[in-house]
Amino acid sequence: MTVPETDMLSVALGRCISAGTPLGPFQGARFSGLTTASDTGLIHAVEDCPYLRKASSVRAIGFSLDASALERLCTNWSCRWAVPDDGRWPVFLDALDALSRLWPKEEEEDTLPSEVDVAAAAGLLSLGEFPEDEANADAWERHAEARACRDDLLALWQNTRHRLITAGDGLAACPWLRPRAEARMTDWAERAEEQRRLLSRFFGPRTLADGAAVASLAAPVLTADTDFGVFGSDAPQVLRRIWRAWRAGARGDAKPLAEAAMAADQELHEALGRRRKGRDEAEESLARLTTAWAEQARLATAERSAGRPWRLIAVRIPPQHRSPHGGGVHDPLTSWEVAVVAVYQVAVDWYRGTAALWVPQGIGEQLLAAEGTMKAVDLLQDAEDWAAPAPALLATWEPETRAAVA
Ligand SMILES: [Zn+2]
Repeated sequence: MTVPETDMLSVALGRCISAGTPLGPFQGARFSGLTTASDTGLIHAVEDCPYLRKASSVRAIGFSLDASALERLCTNWSCRWAVPDDGRWPVFLDALDALSRLWPKEEEEDTLPSEVDVAAAAGLLSLGEFPEDEANADAWERHAEARACRDDLLALWQNTRHRLITAGDGLAACPWLRPRAEARMTDWAERAEEQRRLLSRFFGPRTLADGAAVASLAAPVLTADTDFGVFGSDAPQVLRRIWRAWRAGARGDAKPLAEAAMAADQELHEALGRRRKGRDEAEESLARLTTAWAEQARLATAERSAGRPWRLIAVRIPPQHRSPHGGGVHDPLTSWEVAVVAVYQVAVDWYRGTAALWVPQGIGEQLLAAEGTMKAVDLLQDAEDWAAPAPALLATWEPETRAAVA
């Protein structure tokens, strides 16, 4: 029986499978090719390969995919072989593509900022994203440099995480590739750890605990001491928008409560537009509101976390999404989730994309809440070997079973 054309993939095998790659179940797969008179020359897929143009004689051969054939496969993009699009080949090729990113080109080598630079940048940003004196050009520049230091480090860590998680997925699907990639995985894991450790300096643990508590606060309702008369019958709606902006700042963006208040302020000013009458009253009301919300959040933080046992939570870190429309990559994690992983990680397993986080009670509750992006479990709940260290407990959790290529 011949396989219909539509069920085949056209693959430049010589480019996708580098020499020395273990072939697992694909070892011995039969293909036909073309070669010049010598038996040791390159094997081509198509007659019009540029490398064959000057050949005096070309003959057809059948060959088995093995280590010696891999050495001889033509690497020109035009030499493409048909392989069955049966679920096994695409998984293998995806795994090879993911693993190839563990061998970066030289220009991709990134250098990390020094400990001293990171400490200085983190110290500056702990005072606020922007300088207090907006007219001070030097201060403005220093803050911009500090933000760039943090944001570059964050992008680097996200990129490294993505590399490790997609490679780990590939190795889970094609376990025979593991010996080839193991040393590289260890090398990248060490880089990820160094990047995470530096990045964690930029996040305040108390801010993250406040952010967790914010999720538990009830949405406010208009009361007599909030003078939003300027908005007329739209007042309840404006209050909701402001509340959402404040909540998103403190919770999703992991901003300190003082900065979340600035997000609320901005929302108020957008709603106010050019209105003058009642403006001062609305601004004063908002200041009272954000102060009260911050107090409630701090109270909730203390109630949930202070003096209560910490929790050991395992999370599965999702890879970045690549936009199908070419809009670059997107990290599905919120800033709060990124910061929590950076600050509280005590063990990580890149082969399964899982991490163990040792967190205050309130943060643990939020990680386990249904609204989180990361799949999460409490590693100490019903743990048989509850005295085991975090990496051993993490290893007992299998977040999902993946079908391996047989
Ligand atoms: Zn060729």
